[in-house]
Amino acid sequence: MIAIPRQKPIFRFAPSPNGPLHLGHALSAILNHDMAERAGGRFLLRIEDIDQARCTPEFESGIFADLAWLGLSWEEPVRRQSEHLPAYQTALQSLIERGLVYPAFLTRGEVRTRVAAGEAGGTPWPRDPDGTPLYPPDDRLRSNTERRRLLDAGLKHAWRLDTDKAIAEVGGPLYWHESGDGEKGDIVADSAAWGDVVLSRSDAPSSYHLSVVVDDAAQGITHVVRGLDLFHATSIHRLLQTLLGLPQPLYHHHRLILGEDGKKLSKSQGDTGIAEWRRQGWSPLELRRRIGI
Ligand code: GLU
Repeated sequence: MIAIPRQKPIFRFAPSPNGPLHLGHALSAILNHDMAERAGGRFLLRIEDIDQARCTPEFESGIFADLAWLGLSWEEPVRRQSEHLPAYQTALQSLIERGLVYPAFLTRGEVRTRVAAGEAGGTPWPRDPDGTPLYPPDDRLRSNTERRRLLDAGLKHAWRLDTDKAIAEVGGPLYWHESGDGEKGDIVADSAAWGDVVLSRSDAPSSYHLSVVVDDAAQGITHVVRGLDLFHATSIHRLLQTLLGLPQPLYHHHRLILGEDGKKLSKSQGDTGIAEWRRQGWSPLELRRRIGI
């Protein structure tokens, strides 16, 4: 009998070094690490530092120190998004050539004005699952000649996915397999709910959505374990994976750790980081107990 080699499961923890890690990150990192260990798989760490304006080397060192203190070990070398910009550029270029993305010229202020004008009549402007107003259709409706003229004039622009066109190109419905703490089983992707997402901005060469699918494929990730706050984003990830011919991992979106106010922890709110609990004398075991592992 010929033994068919089974691919080793590959898990990843993918924090952004734009603040200190909090208890929610600890839960995510430990779950990934422990699930990889149980499955006889690999555990990778990826530094999602695409947003160079907010990411710093100090926060990155803090991530390594916190994870080591938690007793986790990961494979080297660590993938850093800032070192792989050409990979995202190639993916974006292929979508541009297929006419699935368009240059978007409206500034944030212009979008706000359009949304306010749209809502003045009392009808709420459609929003994405995170509550952000969908991008107005102005730029999607421009002719190619007009786009060329604006690009040639050197106007600042982002690149946005023409989501309806992309969905039509894919043809049938998309699914992902979910085993997390919310809805489970085969979940139907609702990519349309996100509208025309940004894939690249003039000040950030790749968006989270584009880099995450390119990276997961490049690293051979088989299991994506992350917080339930990214559950709905998986719809747009499945669409991008399908357009770019990338494999689909299995997904597990875990419960979130809530702060005393009942809201999810956030770096920008200054929620107490792992390092602070460490200074207050918690042991890694105590921390595991507090977050229910
Ligand atoms: N970088 C993202 C974060 O820190 C996580 C992305 C992911 O796991 O897909 O929230």
